[in-house]
Amino acid sequence: MVKLFLAMDQLTQIGVHSGEAKAPTSSCWSCGSMRAAHFCESCGKVQPPAPVDYFSFFGLPRKLNIDTAALTRDFYALSRKLHPDVYAQAVDTEREWSLQKSSQLNDAYRTLRDPIGRTEYLLRLEGVELEEQSKAATEKARATGEVKKQVVPPDLLEEVFELNMQLEELRANKKMGEDDPSLVSELEAHKKNLEQKFSELDGELKGYWDEWDALISADDGAASEEARRKVRDKMVDLLNRRSYIRNLVRDVNEVLESS
Ligand SMILES: [Zn+2]
Repeated sequence: MVKLFLAMDQLTQIGVHSGEAKAPTSSCWSCGSMRAAHFCESCGKVQPPAPVDYFSFFGLPRKLNIDTAALTRDFYALSRKLHPDVYAQAVDTEREWSLQKSSQLNDAYRTLRDPIGRTEYLLRLEGVELEEQSKAATEKARATGEVKKQVVPPDLLEEVFELNMQLEELRANKKMGEDDPSLVSELEAHKKNLEQKFSELDGELKGYWDEWDALISADDGAASEEARRKVRDKMVDLLNRRSYIRNLVRDVNEVLESS
């Protein structure tokens, strides 16, 4: 959660709605040579941290299928080059830059290597406000003390209705000290069904990643904007269903485990 807020702050600073992020190019502060993103190609000096998004940080396009093994290799290679020991004798600005870059590197890696974190991050870059995790929603919930409400996904309506009735019943039973093994096993079955649905979401999400990446590769300009919006909406819907199901399973566990 905190990670996402930090990411959000950073995005606000760099203005994420300005389209495709380009790797910043400017001349090296030390030798004047045109530089690559993190270190000067000529003299190897660390360059000042640029306010780039996490994909750009790793020189990646904004695609969702990522070679995570390659990402991890890049991460460790950059970690070694930015390690404080390397800068023990460097001037203060270089040491400061290497530290800032290290922390940027860690945030970028943590976010991109996680499939859900990566998807959420990309959606934010694309200007989507993910309501459940949004800062405004969290602050409002904190201020009013209410639990954040989520819209029930339509395909779960029936199941959620039945499940809530059974949860109420079991809570009441437990209060009265009564046992109802058949109710418990019905809830266990519901839970299993929900967990099954949850695990199927990974495959569905992968399908949207493929759709998204194909659109980015095609890059048809305005024509693909509508198509992109559709895929974005499908991913937002999936993430909402995902967190809804996760919360539901948590509720069932709470009731089942309480004595
Ligand atoms: Zn240089």
